[in-house]
Amino acid sequence: MLVFKFGGASVKDASGIINLASVVKKYTENQLLIVVSAMGKTTNALEKLTRAYVDQTEDMHEIYDGIKQYHFDILQELFEPKHPVFDEIANTFVEIDWMIEDEPQDSYDFIYDQIVSIGEMVSTRIINAYLNKDGVKSQWVDVRSYIHTDNTYREGIVDWDKTKASISKDIPALLDKGIVVTQGFLGGTSENFTTTLGREGSDYSASIFAACLGAESVTTWKDVPGILNADPKFFTDTVKFDELSYSEAIEMTYYGASVIHPKTIKPLQNANIPLLVKPFNDPGAAGTIIKEDGVNQFTKPVIILKQNQVLLSISTKDYSFITEDHLSDIFGRFAQSQVKVNVMQTSALSFSVCFDLYEERFEKLLNDLQQDFKVKYNTGLTLITIRHHNATSLKELTEGKTILLEQMSRNTAQVVVR
Ligand code: ASP
Ligand code: MG
Repeated sequence: MLVFKFGGASVKDASGIINLASVVKKYTENQLLIVVSAMGKTTNALEKLTRAYVDQTEDMHEIYDGIKQYHFDILQELFEPKHPVFDEIANTFVEIDWMIEDEPQDSYDFIYDQIVSIGEMVSTRIINAYLNKDGVKSQWVDVRSYIHTDNTYREGIVDWDKTKASISKDIPALLDKGIVVTQGFLGGTSENFTTTLGREGSDYSASIFAACLGAESVTTWKDVPGILNADPKFFTDTVKFDELSYSEAIEMTYYGASVIHPKTIKPLQNANIPLLVKPFNDPGAAGTIIKEDGVNQFTKPVIILKQNQVLLSISTKDYSFITEDHLSDIFGRFAQSQVKVNVMQTSALSFSVCFDLYEERFEKLLNDLQQDFKVKYNTGLTLITIRHHNATSLKELTEGKTILLEQMSRNTAQVVVR
């Protein structure tokens, strides 16, 4: 059996959904499970809605109406006016209608998951309805009954035993009957609340299903020809990799290559299932294959940019040395605040750390550290990582920029710049 994952960009409009159906039709002699993300930029819009609801700002209804309108416009292009999918989508949105009527009570992360998950709940219902209308036998599955997580909202930790048991109990029989369409990015807790697996987590969902079902391969369909050495949004002369090893792919995602979610590879590697990254507008193209014996050919260095970085320097209040005890204490506070370190460096008197800016988490960390340490920080920075760097690549990338931190190993160069 095969697992396909379609990201938000591939289903951002009616023609994307029509294209999805045409890709899927080429594979109907296989058993096929399809994992789908929210359409286009819906998750970002739902994040804004969550913020507006929690802060009770005036633009809340405007943001929400925009999200609904976007989906209904697409429905109108795809279905005749009396099709039951219109009611189905309206009913799905009702859950949010009810929620935002009342003032927020629960934690931000809990509210976030209950609201943001609607993006995938509606996208999969639309796609499932369209496939059936287009003559492809397809069944909608609520992933929250299959991918079981703990209650770490916004970063659900998968309970693999429970997940594997649920998936292998029901899904094979469903696959015998037709295509299965389900949501990426979501999971469910034992109390039946919705969790999310971390932004861009749909790849990980696809990999969980593949590992539990022993799939032949996972294909993620993207708006790029495959895995490139750099993000084409920022660089023009990119090259595509035909093959990569699992370990190189893991390194790339670890440093922030956004083409695949970092948690995706490990379950596939354990089960020896190849991951294909292919362009959805050219389904016949080879794309990139990631597998155990994938041959890494680096004709150009791999460049990974992470924006919106914070660089924080921590020193003791009495200017004494930073010791192992301090470091262990500091790391404990990072873990407590759920702040993940991208790069770090120690000197005698200070410890510098670079990480992604998540406002709530950063504020919590800062308040905590300031009680016992002196803290300075800069925001709005970019972290540039170059794998398999050479002298010219580093120079070109940092030209005209202020370097605030620099770190070099044989395979990887990292610089934090303004
Ligand atoms: N829709 C979610 C996001 O945009 C998950 C995903 O796209 O993989 O983060
Ligand atoms: Mg997305």
